[in-house]
Amino acid sequence: MTILQTRNLRKEYGNGDNLVKALDDVNLTIKQGEFVSIVGTSGSGKSTLLHMLGGLDRPSSGKVFVEGNDIFSFKEEPLTIFRRRKIGFVFQSYNLVPVLNVYENVVLPIELDGNTVDDEYIHEIIDILGLASKEENLPSQLSGGQQQRVAIARALAAKPAIILADEPTGNLDSRTSQDVLSLLKMTGERFKQTIVMITHNEEIAQMADRIIRIEDGKVRERGEND
Ligand code: ADP
Ligand code: ADP
Repeated sequence: MTILQTRNLRKEYGNGDNLVKALDDVNLTIKQGEFVSIVGTSGSGKSTLLHMLGGLDRPSSGKVFVEGNDIFSFKEEPLTIFRRRKIGFVFQSYNLVPVLNVYENVVLPIELDGNTVDDEYIHEIIDILGLASKEENLPSQLSGGQQQRVAIARALAAKPAIILADEPTGNLDSRTSQDVLSLLKMTGERFKQTIVMITHNEEIAQMADRIIRIEDGKVRERGEND
Protein backbone atom coordinates (compact mmCIF):
# COMPACT_ATOMS: atom_id res chain seq x y z
CA MET A 1 0.00 0.00 0.00
CA THR A 2 1.27 3.47 -0.92
CA ILE A 3 1.50 5.87 2.02
CA LEU A 4 3.45 8.78 0.52
CA GLN A 5 3.49 9.97 -3.06
CA THR A 6 4.68 13.05 -4.89
CA ARG A 7 3.48 14.05 -8.34
CA ASN A 8 5.49 16.46 -10.51
CA LEU A 9 6.73 18.21 -7.40
CA ARG A 10 8.56 21.47 -8.04
CA LYS A 11 9.92 24.08 -5.68
CA GLU A 12 11.61 27.22 -6.86
CA TYR A 13 13.26 29.95 -4.81
CA GLY A 14 14.01 33.47 -6.03
CA ASN A 15 13.42 34.64 -9.59
CA GLY A 16 15.12 35.82 -12.76
CA ASP A 17 18.88 35.31 -12.62
CA ASN A 18 18.56 34.16 -9.01
CA LEU A 19 16.06 31.38 -9.71
CA VAL A 20 16.92 28.15 -7.90
CA LYS A 21 15.07 24.98 -8.86
CA ALA A 22 15.34 23.27 -5.48
CA LEU A 23 13.00 20.47 -6.63
CA ASP A 24 12.56 19.78 -10.33
CA ASP A 25 9.68 17.44 -11.19
CA VAL A 26 10.05 14.89 -8.42
CA ASN A 27 7.88 11.76 -8.61
CA LEU A 28 8.20 9.34 -5.72
CA THR A 29 6.16 6.51 -4.29
CA ILE A 30 6.82 5.21 -0.80
CA LYS A 31 5.04 2.17 0.58
CA GLN A 32 3.66 1.78 4.06
CA GLY A 33 6.30 0.36 6.40
CA GLU A 34 9.19 1.19 4.06
CA PHE A 35 12.39 2.69 5.42
CA VAL A 36 13.79 4.99 2.74
CA SER A 37 16.90 7.14 2.82
CA ILE A 38 17.34 10.25 0.70
CA VAL A 39 20.94 10.87 -0.26
CA GLY A 40 22.51 13.84 -2.02
CA THR A 41 25.19 16.47 -1.68
CA SER A 42 24.64 19.73 0.18
CA GLY A 43 22.20 21.95 -1.74
CA SER A 44 20.76 19.07 -3.80
CA GLY A 45 17.24 19.60 -2.40
CA LYS A 46 16.99 17.02 0.38
CA SER A 47 15.65 19.33 3.09
CA THR A 48 13.25 20.98 0.66
CA LEU A 49 11.88 17.55 -0.31
CA LEU A 50 11.48 16.49 3.32
CA HIS A 51 9.72 19.76 4.16
CA MET A 52 7.27 19.20 1.28
CA LEU A 53 6.65 15.56 2.30
CA GLY A 54 5.84 16.76 5.80
CA GLY A 55 3.67 19.67 4.71
CA LEU A 56 6.01 22.16 6.41
CA ASP A 57 6.35 24.25 3.28
CA ARG A 58 4.24 24.52 0.11
CA PRO A 59 5.55 23.51 -3.34
CA SER A 60 5.63 25.88 -6.34
CA SER A 61 3.63 23.23 -8.21
CA GLY A 62 2.84 19.55 -8.04
CA LYS A 63 1.28 17.46 -5.32
CA VAL A 64 2.05 15.45 -2.22
CA PHE A 65 -0.32 12.67 -1.19
CA VAL A 66 -0.25 11.28 2.34
CA GLU A 67 -2.45 8.19 2.66
CA GLY A 68 -4.17 9.37 -0.52
CA ASN A 69 -4.85 12.88 0.81
CA ASP A 70 -3.70 15.77 -1.37
CA ILE A 71 -2.18 17.61 1.60
CA PHE A 72 -1.67 20.99 -0.07
CA SER A 73 -5.38 21.15 -0.92
CA PHE A 74 -5.83 21.67 2.84
CA LYS A 75 -5.84 25.15 4.31
CA GLU A 76 -3.13 26.03 6.84
CA GLU A 77 -4.91 24.94 10.01
CA PRO A 78 -6.28 21.57 8.82
CA LEU A 79 -2.83 20.89 7.35
CA THR A 80 -1.21 21.56 10.74
CA ILE A 81 -3.67 19.24 12.47
CA PHE A 82 -3.17 16.53 9.83
CA ARG A 83 0.61 16.84 10.15
CA ARG A 84 0.55 16.54 13.94
CA ARG A 85 -1.59 13.42 13.74
CA LYS A 86 0.30 11.62 10.98
CA ILE A 87 3.91 12.71 11.07
CA GLY A 88 6.78 12.65 13.56
CA PHE A 89 9.84 14.79 12.85
CA VAL A 90 13.41 14.13 13.94
CA PHE A 91 16.04 16.78 13.25
CA GLN A 92 19.81 16.92 13.49
CA SER A 93 19.58 19.18 16.54
CA TYR A 94 17.66 17.46 19.30
CA ASN A 95 15.69 20.52 20.46
CA LEU A 96 15.04 19.09 23.91
CA VAL A 97 13.70 21.34 26.66
CA PRO A 98 16.61 21.64 29.13
CA VAL A 99 14.50 21.99 32.29
CA LEU A 100 12.36 18.92 31.57
CA ASN A 101 13.49 15.34 32.20
CA VAL A 102 13.50 12.59 29.55
CA TYR A 103 9.94 11.39 30.19
CA GLU A 104 8.59 14.96 30.27
CA ASN A 105 10.34 15.83 27.00
CA VAL A 106 8.91 12.75 25.29
CA VAL A 107 5.29 13.42 26.28
CA LEU A 108 5.44 17.22 25.88
CA PRO A 109 3.99 17.41 22.31
CA ILE A 110 1.08 15.15 23.29
CA GLU A 111 0.33 17.32 26.31
CA LEU A 112 0.62 20.54 24.31
CA ASP A 113 -1.94 19.11 21.87
CA GLY A 114 -4.20 18.37 24.83
CA ASN A 115 -4.22 14.64 24.11
CA THR A 116 -4.14 11.75 26.56
CA VAL A 117 -0.76 10.11 27.10
CA ASP A 118 -0.73 6.32 26.53
CA ASP A 119 1.66 5.67 29.38
CA GLU A 120 2.24 1.99 28.60
CA TYR A 121 3.22 2.79 25.01
CA ILE A 122 5.50 5.66 26.10
CA HIS A 123 7.33 3.39 28.53
CA GLU A 124 7.68 0.75 25.82
CA ILE A 125 9.29 3.25 23.42
CA ILE A 126 11.59 4.59 26.13
CA ASP A 127 12.56 1.02 26.99
CA ILE A 128 13.24 -0.02 23.36
CA LEU A 129 15.40 3.07 22.92
CA GLY A 130 17.46 2.06 25.95
CA LEU A 131 16.44 5.05 28.05
CA ALA A 132 14.50 3.30 30.84
CA SER A 133 17.11 4.12 33.48
CA LYS A 134 17.32 7.75 32.25
CA GLU A 135 13.65 8.75 32.46
CA GLU A 136 14.26 11.19 35.31
CA ASN A 137 17.46 12.65 33.86
CA LEU A 138 17.76 16.10 32.35
CA PRO A 139 19.09 16.40 28.77
CA SER A 140 22.35 17.93 30.09
CA GLN A 141 23.01 14.64 31.90
CA LEU A 142 22.86 12.63 28.66
CA SER A 143 25.31 11.92 25.84
CA GLY A 144 24.60 13.11 22.29
CA GLY A 145 23.42 9.64 21.24
CA GLN A 146 21.10 9.44 24.24
CA GLN A 147 19.69 12.91 23.50
CA GLN A 148 18.99 11.92 19.91
CA ARG A 149 17.21 8.78 21.17
CA VAL A 150 15.02 11.03 23.35
CA ALA A 151 14.22 13.11 20.25
CA ILE A 152 13.27 9.90 18.42
CA ALA A 153 11.08 8.79 21.35
CA ARG A 154 9.38 12.21 21.27
CA ALA A 155 8.74 11.86 17.52
CA LEU A 156 7.20 8.42 18.10
CA ALA A 157 5.14 9.47 21.12
CA ALA A 158 1.98 10.46 19.23
CA LYS A 159 2.10 7.16 17.24
CA PRO A 160 2.62 8.81 13.83
CA ALA A 161 2.31 6.64 10.72
CA ILE A 162 5.31 8.42 9.18
CA ILE A 163 8.65 9.48 10.63
CA LEU A 164 10.58 12.16 8.71
CA ALA A 165 14.18 12.46 9.84
CA ASP A 166 16.57 15.19 8.64
CA GLU A 167 20.20 14.11 9.25
CA PRO A 168 19.27 12.39 12.53
CA THR A 169 22.84 11.21 13.02
CA GLY A 170 24.51 14.42 11.82
CA ASN A 171 25.92 15.25 15.25
CA LEU A 172 26.93 11.71 16.26
CA ASP A 173 30.10 9.69 15.80
CA SER A 174 29.90 6.76 13.39
CA ARG A 175 29.48 3.99 15.99
CA THR A 176 26.73 5.90 17.84
CA SER A 177 25.09 6.76 14.51
CA GLN A 178 24.73 3.09 13.63
CA ASP A 179 23.34 2.26 17.08
CA VAL A 180 20.78 5.08 16.92
CA LEU A 181 19.79 4.08 13.38
CA SER A 182 19.35 0.43 14.35
CA LEU A 183 17.00 1.52 17.13
CA LEU A 184 15.06 3.82 14.79
CA LYS A 185 14.72 0.93 12.34
CA MET A 186 13.65 -1.46 15.09
CA THR A 187 10.94 0.87 16.40
CA GLY A 188 9.77 1.46 12.82
CA GLU A 189 9.32 -2.28 12.36
CA ARG A 190 7.75 -2.75 15.79
CA PHE A 191 5.13 -0.04 15.22
CA LYS A 192 4.78 -0.53 11.42
CA GLN A 193 5.93 3.00 10.70
CA THR A 194 7.20 4.42 7.45
CA ILE A 195 10.55 6.18 7.81
CA VAL A 196 12.02 8.70 5.39
CA MET A 197 15.51 9.82 6.39
CA ILE A 198 17.86 12.37 4.89
CA THR A 199 21.55 11.65 5.20
CA HIS A 200 24.79 12.40 3.42
CA ASN A 201 26.43 9.42 5.13
CA GLU A 202 26.54 6.50 2.67
CA GLU A 203 27.02 3.89 5.43
CA ILE A 204 23.95 5.15 7.31
CA ALA A 205 21.96 5.35 4.06
CA GLN A 206 22.66 1.67 3.38
CA MET A 207 20.77 0.69 6.53
CA ALA A 208 17.48 1.64 4.82
CA ASP A 209 15.38 -0.67 2.60
CA ARG A 210 15.80 1.71 -0.31
CA ILE A 211 17.97 4.67 -1.26
CA ILE A 212 16.60 7.62 -3.24
CA ARG A 213 19.33 9.78 -4.77
CA ILE A 214 18.75 13.45 -5.44
CA GLU A 215 20.96 15.72 -7.50
CA ASP A 216 20.22 19.35 -8.42
CA GLY A 217 16.59 18.87 -7.39
CA LYS A 218 16.11 15.79 -9.54
CA VAL A 219 15.59 12.27 -8.27
CA ARG A 220 18.06 9.96 -9.97
CA GLU A 221 16.95 6.62 -8.67
CA ARG A 222 13.27 5.90 -8.91
CA GLY A 223 11.20 3.46 -6.86
CA GLU A 224 9.87 0.20 -8.23
CA ASN A 225 6.45 1.73 -8.72
CA ASP A 226 7.42 4.91 -10.52
P1 ADP B 1 19.99 20.14 0.96
O1 ADP B 1 19.05 19.83 2.07
O2 ADP B 1 20.20 18.96 0.04
O3 ADP B 1 21.28 20.71 1.42
P2 ADP B 1 18.15 22.29 0.36
O4 ADP B 1 16.84 21.65 0.12
O5 ADP B 1 18.40 22.91 1.69
O6 ADP B 1 19.30 21.23 0.03
O7 ADP B 1 18.42 23.41 -0.75
C1 ADP B 1 18.25 23.14 -2.14
C2 ADP B 1 18.56 24.42 -2.91
O8 ADP B 1 17.56 25.40 -2.62
C3 ADP B 1 19.88 25.06 -2.53
O9 ADP B 1 20.40 25.66 -3.69
C4 ADP B 1 19.49 26.08 -1.49
O10 ADP B 1 20.41 27.13 -1.44
C5 ADP B 1 18.15 26.54 -2.02
N1 ADP B 1 17.24 26.99 -0.93
C6 ADP B 1 16.75 26.21 0.06
N2 ADP B 1 15.94 26.91 0.87
C7 ADP B 1 15.92 28.16 0.36
C8 ADP B 1 15.27 29.37 0.75
N3 ADP B 1 14.44 29.42 1.80
N4 ADP B 1 15.49 30.46 -0.01
C9 ADP B 1 16.30 30.44 -1.08
N5 ADP B 1 16.96 29.34 -1.50
C10 ADP B 1 16.76 28.22 -0.79
P1 ADP C 1 20.52 21.09 5.72
O1 ADP C 1 21.71 21.19 6.64
O2 ADP C 1 19.45 20.20 6.22
O3 ADP C 1 20.87 20.85 4.30
P2 ADP C 1 20.46 23.87 5.24
O4 ADP C 1 21.52 24.28 6.19
O5 ADP C 1 20.75 23.74 3.78
O6 ADP C 1 19.83 22.50 5.77
O7 ADP C 1 19.22 24.80 5.38
C1 ADP C 1 18.69 25.10 6.65
C2 ADP C 1 17.46 25.99 6.44
O8 ADP C 1 17.81 27.15 5.70
C3 ADP C 1 16.36 25.28 5.65
O9 ADP C 1 15.12 25.54 6.25
C4 ADP C 1 16.44 25.87 4.27
O10 ADP C 1 15.15 25.99 3.68
C5 ADP C 1 17.03 27.26 4.51
N1 ADP C 1 17.92 27.63 3.41
C6 ADP C 1 18.82 26.85 2.77
N2 ADP C 1 19.44 27.52 1.78
C7 ADP C 1 18.94 28.78 1.81
C8 ADP C 1 19.18 29.96 1.04
N3 ADP C 1 20.03 30.00 0.02
N4 ADP C 1 18.48 31.08 1.36
C9 ADP C 1 17.60 31.05 2.37
N5 ADP C 1 17.33 29.98 3.12
C10 ADP C 1 17.99 28.85 2.84
